[in-house]
Amino acid sequence: MLPIISKSNQNKTAIISNGNSFSYDELRIASQEFASYLLGEKTDLSESRVAFMVTAGFDYVKTQWAIWQAGGVAVPLCTTHPLSSLQYVIEDTQAETIIVSPEFESILKDLAAEKNIRFIVLGQESQGIIKELPQLSSDRRAMILYTSGTTNLPKGVVTSHANIEAQVSTLVDAWEYSENDHILCILPLHHVHGIINVISCTLWAGGTVEFLPNFSADGVFNWIKKIANSGVKGVFMAVPTIYFKLIAHFETLDESTQKALTENMKTFRLMVSGSAALPVSVMEKWEGISGHRLLERYGMTEIGMAISNPYHRERRAGHIGQALKGVSVRLVDEQNEEVAIGEAGEIQIKGANVFQEYWLKPESTENTFTEDGWFKTGDVAVLDDGYYKILGRSSIDIIKSGGYKISALEIEEVLRTHPNINDCSVVGIDNEEWGELVVAAIISDDKDLNTDALNKWIREKMPSYKVPRKYKLVDELPRNAMGKVTKNDLKKMF
Ligand code: ATP
Ligand code: MG
Repeated sequence: MLPIISKSNQNKTAIISNGNSFSYDELRIASQEFASYLLGEKTDLSESRVAFMVTAGFDYVKTQWAIWQAGGVAVPLCTTHPLSSLQYVIEDTQAETIIVSPEFESILKDLAAEKNIRFIVLGQESQGIIKELPQLSSDRRAMILYTSGTTNLPKGVVTSHANIEAQVSTLVDAWEYSENDHILCILPLHHVHGIINVISCTLWAGGTVEFLPNFSADGVFNWIKKIANSGVKGVFMAVPTIYFKLIAHFETLDESTQKALTENMKTFRLMVSGSAALPVSVMEKWEGISGHRLLERYGMTEIGMAISNPYHRERRAGHIGQALKGVSVRLVDEQNEEVAIGEAGEIQIKGANVFQEYWLKPESTENTFTEDGWFKTGDVAVLDDGYYKILGRSSIDIIKSGGYKISALEIEEVLRTHPNINDCSVVGIDNEEWGELVVAAIISDDKDLNTDALNKWIREKMPSYKVPRKYKLVDELPRNAMGKVTKNDLKKMF
């Protein structure tokens, strides 16, 4: 069945947003009516791009389903990006339609008028008519998502309906989503983490998605309290920085509140982390707080999820797990030859989940696949006792210094075990003599952190070529909307 929306039962609650509940029937009808409105006189939007800036909630899902059912390509816009970033996406995709929630009307109205783009403010579309909707073949383009822009300008990633179906069905099987699931959505809805893992998988399985308009640790804990023992299976997914914030907030609560929350969390079915490396310290603290061993997985805009810790067996800290069913994974050296087990290599991926192309970038698309069709992720990993372990992005986390290849992530893991280091990020800066020098930005409550003592401490834990040559105390690390450290910005700070 295409597009992959939901096969679920009619009266069950699909979505809760702003305190209102919407059944699968309401969602299906509203999205078909909106699809009909989008079509107007046409019978198929024929892959024209529809950009939408819609508040997370019922309207978001309705809009996405409507675009798909009308045969358009869905281009979700980040609701917190500045106008220049929105304009980049709208122009790059050559969007023919822009849909906005009323609260965003003023941001995009002028741009739409200037470029002669059809502009629809939600609430003004007519309702009550359902036309015949086009039959879609599975190879049709369904969505363009922009990468997080962690290393470079965001690239438009085109996925087909078949890609999305593969990404969703693989994950639903692997993590056993069901109609009893009740999941909280706090993630931005212009990336796969929120769109695929949280919303699409849950709705495909017939569960309920509840939206929290703005993230706050209090809001999340209150929701957990509400869900616990209500008979449904609570599910929670977030990025490491969110777990970091939840832990910090939890520690400020009094003991009886903490105890009650822990009991509440134990009733949950599943808690997941991804999008960036989960520090072992965060995983361990969260396990102490919630009783849950976070399930860490690895994915990308280009491939959805590819590698995951197991749902039933051991979830290993500092590791991303094994290839998901239907996804082929290999580690290769610079000549594209598979490395021996235990050696570091680039992760390459094949499978029905892998995207079609970078939008209007045929050269980038060509360069990112090997001749025999493997997608080059640019991430380096090692297979360690049956579990993949990420060493970082080859372009930025693998620091080349004095002939060594050093994983920034490994050094960060060690630094985070220091009692006075709250968080840190390691990069390489250009150096004539060494190629690159390892340097570390550190967040610490101890404003006079003694770097000599720190060096002595770290030298006992790793060979001297890995020891940072410079430290910088910072109040915050530069991060993007997904909470990922933008290391190019960090480099500039050194
Ligand atoms: P850009 O491609 O624009 O630089 P980006 O790569 O951050 O941005 P995404 O597609 O959102 O854009 O993120 C995918 C990347 O996130 C992966 O290539 C990987 O580096 C990182 N990542 C995802 N999950 C994990 C994980 N569990 N551990 C470590 N890194 C992860
Ligand atoms: Mg990327």
